[in-house]
Amino acid sequence: SAFPDSFFNQHSSYVVILIIAIIYGIGGLRLAPAMIACISSAALSFLVIRHYELWYNWGHFSQYVVLANAVGILLGYLLEHRDRTMFLQAELLGLEKRKMDQLSQEFNRLSREDALTGLANRRHFNEVFQQEWDRARRDQRPVALIFVDVDHFKPFNDSHGHVEGDKALAMVGVALKTVLRRSGDMAARYGGEEFVLLLPGTGLEGAREVALQVTRAIQSLRIHHRASSVGDYVTVSMGVASVQPEGELRSAQLLAQADEAVYAAKEAGRNCIMLVQADGTIDPTPVRLA
Ligand code: GH3
Ligand code: MG
Ligand code: MG
Repeated sequence: SAFPDSFFNQHSSYVVILIIAIIYGIGGLRLAPAMIACISSAALSFLVIRHYELWYNWGHFSQYVVLANAVGILLGYLLEHRDRTMFLQAELLGLEKRKMDQLSQEFNRLSREDALTGLANRRHFNEVFQQEWDRARRDQRPVALIFVDVDHFKPFNDSHGHVEGDKALAMVGVALKTVLRRSGDMAARYGGEEFVLLLPGTGLEGAREVALQVTRAIQSLRIHHRASSVGDYVTVSMGVASVQPEGELRSAQLLAQADEAVYAAKEAGRNCIMLVQADGTIDPTPVRLA
């Protein structure tokens, strides 16, 4: 408005618009503040022109106001749109990541767990058993295993059906879990109707006690078994072995010993516990609840 030369006047207002656009850009105003800034700057310019009675051309002024407003508002809109899009994208990414984390946790759990009983599966047991074996070797502590096999389970299925068989196995799984109270202990489903308890830092005597508790826990389930030669309810046979890992001794040997003791328990009439002695032979006297 200060320049009477209309050419100079018009082009200087373009420069002003450009400067305003740069200021809006740097200021990073969002749509609403940008609109307020545009309208107040237009009003302020108008008041300054009127107050100092500057020469002005209405056409130029409105052109300048509209352009500056349009540029400012457009910048505000674009900046806000970009910010909102970025915010939404970040939120979506976070959501995706949380979903992926949950899925991978779930996948990890499923890969370690037996679906029917919720106990550790054989693969996970093998991993943990090896870790505990190595730790016991370092710490010079014993490791105990209790191998558990449900008695006459094939006849159970034949007599009660597979659905009832599955239910019975799930109940046995819960009973095994409740018997274990120490944090390092682990119950796993080794296969079909076979389970294994891992008791780190436990000697033969302690493991024998746990096996007796298992017998009690299974007994108190009172799962009817029509086809058992042992009694009216589901029973289990167990093999117990405990050893301190030394020299060439391998973890698989402890497992084989406990497994052998289960066969001895079957031969001794089932529903009993057979202990593997320190020399690796099986104690011929079966342990039963008094
Ligand atoms: P024993 O007293 O000598 O152990 O006899 P058993 O019949 O229990 O032994 P055997 O190994 O001959 O049979 C095991 C049976 O366990 C075979 C199968 O029908 C049953 N079984 C294995 N896995 C499952 C399962 O997931 N669900 C059900 N319902 N039954 C299973
Ligand atoms: Mg079996
Ligand atoms: Mg069996």
